[in-house]
Amino acid sequence: MFCIPKGVLRPAWAPSSATLRLPLLPHCFVNSCFGNSDVCSSPLPGFPFPSYRLGLGRPCACRGSTPRFCVQLRLHFHFRSRGGQGRQQRCGPRAPGSSSKMIPLSVKRPLVTMSLLLSSLLMLLTVATPSWCQSSETTSPKASNRAPFPWNKMRLPEHIIPLHYNLMIHANLTTLTFGGTTEIEITASKPTSTIILHSHHLQISKAALRKGAGERQSEEPLRVLEYPPQEQIALLAPEPLVVGLLYTIVIDYAGNLSESFYGFYKSTYRTKEGEMRILASTQFEPTAARMAFPCFDEPAFKASFSIKVRREPRHLAISNMPLVKSVTVAEGLVEDHFDVTVKMSTYLVAFIVSDFKSVSKMTKSGIKVSVYAVPDKINQAGYALDAAVTLLEFYEDYFSIPYPLSKQDLAAIPDFQSGAMENWGLTTYRESSLLFDAEKSSASSKLGITMTVSHELAHQWFGNLVTMEWWNDLWLNEGFAKFMEFVSVSVTHPELKVEDYFFDKCFNAMEVDALNSSHPVSTPVENPAQIREIFDEVSYEKGACVLNMLRDYLGADAFKSGIVKYLQKYSYKNTKNEDLWNSMASICPTDGPQQMDGFCSRGEHSTSSSHWRQEGLDVKTMMNTWTLQKGFPLITITVRGRNVHMKQEHYVKGPEDAPETGYLWHVPLTFITSNSDSVQRFLLKTRTDVLILPEEVEWIKFNVGMNGYYIVHYEDDGWDSLTGLLKGTHTAISSSDRASLINNAFQLVSIGKLSIEKALDLTLYLKRETEIMPVFQGLNELIPMYKLMEKRDMNEVETQFKAFLIGLLRDLIDKQTWTDEGSISERMLRSQLLLLACVRKYQPCVQKAEGYFRQWQEANGNLRLPSDVTLAVFAVGAQNPEGWDFLYSKYQSSLSSTEKHQIEFALCITHNKEKLQWLLDQSFKGDTIKTQEFPDILRTIGRNPVGYPLAWQFLRENWNKLVQKFELGSSSIAYMVVGTTNQFSTRARLEEVKEFFSSLKENGSQLRCVQQTIETIEENIRWMDKNFDKIRVWLQNEKLELL
Ligand SMILES: [Zn+2]
Repeated sequence: MFCIPKGVLRPAWAPSSATLRLPLLPHCFVNSCFGNSDVCSSPLPGFPFPSYRLGLGRPCACRGSTPRFCVQLRLHFHFRSRGGQGRQQRCGPRAPGSSSKMIPLSVKRPLVTMSLLLSSLLMLLTVATPSWCQSSETTSPKASNRAPFPWNKMRLPEHIIPLHYNLMIHANLTTLTFGGTTEIEITASKPTSTIILHSHHLQISKAALRKGAGERQSEEPLRVLEYPPQEQIALLAPEPLVVGLLYTIVIDYAGNLSESFYGFYKSTYRTKEGEMRILASTQFEPTAARMAFPCFDEPAFKASFSIKVRREPRHLAISNMPLVKSVTVAEGLVEDHFDVTVKMSTYLVAFIVSDFKSVSKMTKSGIKVSVYAVPDKINQAGYALDAAVTLLEFYEDYFSIPYPLSKQDLAAIPDFQSGAMENWGLTTYRESSLLFDAEKSSASSKLGITMTVSHELAHQWFGNLVTMEWWNDLWLNEGFAKFMEFVSVSVTHPELKVEDYFFDKCFNAMEVDALNSSHPVSTPVENPAQIREIFDEVSYEKGACVLNMLRDYLGADAFKSGIVKYLQKYSYKNTKNEDLWNSMASICPTDGPQQMDGFCSRGEHSTSSSHWRQEGLDVKTMMNTWTLQKGFPLITITVRGRNVHMKQEHYVKGPEDAPETGYLWHVPLTFITSNSDSVQRFLLKTRTDVLILPEEVEWIKFNVGMNGYYIVHYEDDGWDSLTGLLKGTHTAISSSDRASLINNAFQLVSIGKLSIEKALDLTLYLKRETEIMPVFQGLNELIPMYKLMEKRDMNEVETQFKAFLIGLLRDLIDKQTWTDEGSISERMLRSQLLLLACVRKYQPCVQKAEGYFRQWQEANGNLRLPSDVTLAVFAVGAQNPEGWDFLYSKYQSSLSSTEKHQIEFALCITHNKEKLQWLLDQSFKGDTIKTQEFPDILRTIGRNPVGYPLAWQFLRENWNKLVQKFELGSSSIAYMVVGTTNQFSTRARLEEVKEFFSSLKENGSQLRCVQQTIETIEENIRWMDKNFDKIRVWLQNEKLELL
């Protein structure tokens, strides 16, 4: 699934902090939407992925009393290497069992740390035991008819195995109901007369058990017990099922089309002529297949499906597989029969009944790819169709596993909660995530559509072909799909330069992963709300970031061969975290050591392979430290002459006197120095270590390109040297490195390691910055500061701060043309900068935007504005009531998702409270503004300095209905909770938030997003107490110099 398309670029200018929308950039995440990055199979032009070689070198002297030897790192670069090959010596630990010339090295590698690590891992493993494995309550639950219900666990028993489903579904789009018959072929692995399966909101009229075949077939009725709290039913047979025999359960049932976005649900749209039309579509992941047909609704119960859909002749039906035939079963009723599916999980089943139109193309290998959309928008399907063909071809080649179906449909659904869904053979999308209007769509929407399609197609392998065994390892689906977006698009669409944006994903993940309420990537979940909750930043973005880090560490080719092996081995099966690492552990870096006993060893040192066991590539142990414990490390660097002292500790926000967690990671460190831009590597496994440079350096920068999931603090004058570098020749390091310095500096302010003044000083170099990611990162850090002030009536400093920000970027703003020229990143930068300038009332910008708006209005909206400047123009136009009303009238008739998003944003930043309240009411109702837009509207108004009290109030007053519509635990709910509250920074607001959510009891108080927002508000309070006065003084000193 592609999470909620907040379409939001984190720079939260304007009244809306995190709400500037890149309409199509999806994401689930609290803050932003996009990032960038990386990868491809072999040397990708423009990518710093060195292959490397380890070798034992001559003895050298290191600090400390023990003799040492040197490990030579020879680094071969595809990129960024001035000399083409770098060479660096460092001290490494002695190889046990090796000759006396090869002696220990690592300065202090106290045994005690190793044992600490082992014990903490053991503890983690224990803690990570899923709660559903533990003994469950002993009291017997009661079915809805008060009879005892024979099962008391959330997870289904394992002894009934579904093999094949025959589904017949009849959707009536007039009565908004559906009926169906489900036949499930099962076997039992132990004698039982009770069959437990899932069913939710379905009325079952008949259940029977069929056994035998042909003339000897018999059918006997089954008694049905329902247990709604667990969304389960029990079918009771008169006598126990015989082990090994084939049975068929037959269930007739009916239901209403869902009014939410889950299950088999209703969607509507208006034609150009204003006629309202209805369609029905499915969204089953994670636990809603049971809302459309009774089934064994857990990912490990894979089966094949034969699907038949009944419809009126004026409609068409599509499903996972191609249509085999259509038969008329009654007057005005057609039954479509679809081909039998491959073996797959229930959450991947899909069917749609609609009046969509489609366009199609074939891939080189003969797969028919089609895009479906409502008839009025089918002319916007071309871009996604071409992208899908190219990406599908890429994946078949990259994974070396053919796509197993003969078709892939991509359908744009008018009402859709998340961004997209990977149903096998029939991926579904929000319209804005698939449809591209060449005239009006923005640069960011092109990027977003490409990434979303790439994500869903990656899932056809990661997720569909190989599926996590249980939702606790959701990241195996989502982390990989997110990661593969960057791998594939950087090759298929190099002009989009997605690699530039990857590290931003990691910053997003770190924002929630730095809180105590975070969770390990692989984490126990049991009930549907908990399952929905892990569709979050940690599963998607942290998952992708740790995979990227591993790829950087192993080398692109070695990494690729590991995942191909994993996919091949587990095709049509289910996996756990460790299955992936076992596949990875048995491959070795390109040009590097050879595999031996599951570890990588150098051939010539096979007699002392134990050395590599300890110091080589133990992927599983290394990656367990990243996936089984929450959070990430802060690496503190202290340079003393040629010695670089490294220390790791758990970075966690919170009171400064909070106890240490004792977590340790295996951190694949990378660094460059003032003397060499060749990437050097060091695997830090202990709490502290030291490496020796060949010569003294002026500066050292760790985490090159932000490929690692950790942040870095430079002690003593380390930060001063780097600030000096940025102010002098900032282009000496890459734009990703510059952005990561900005990010890390402010992270360190939060935990009191760096002063706010030093962090602000560092941002002053932005006056000369022109690249998109450092500028965006600067805004991501600076804008939230004035957003906090806006909510505390700190007008004077707030105004000064806003003026400082515009002053900082004025040269860059002035340089922008009001056109659509340039690369995607230049265009996105332009769009955001002009919006910022206009909303902050920078007069040259406002005047120009007013002129454009007037012309556009005079042409009744028919004037074509450059799409990059439209957002700024609309934002200015919406500031007066007539402009606002005109924009709303255009919103009603627009067929372009980008334009609608731009207008929606502009409407939400007005300071007119009545209009803001009206927007909340209307989008919640869903008649004129779709309810799928509500989370974005609520959040944008929640960032509006005038609107935020309205948004917070609305959330509280309508909580129950919101949860009904968007579901407890969904990323939409998290987005709204965080979006309305996480910029509060007063104790009074904190109490209000705590009180409200605790009053919800089981209907929301336990949500992780609630813990997140409470922690964030507490952090905001601490932060403001500590830094506000300093900012005021700093602004006084800097203002004159800068402005
Ligand atoms: Zn996904």
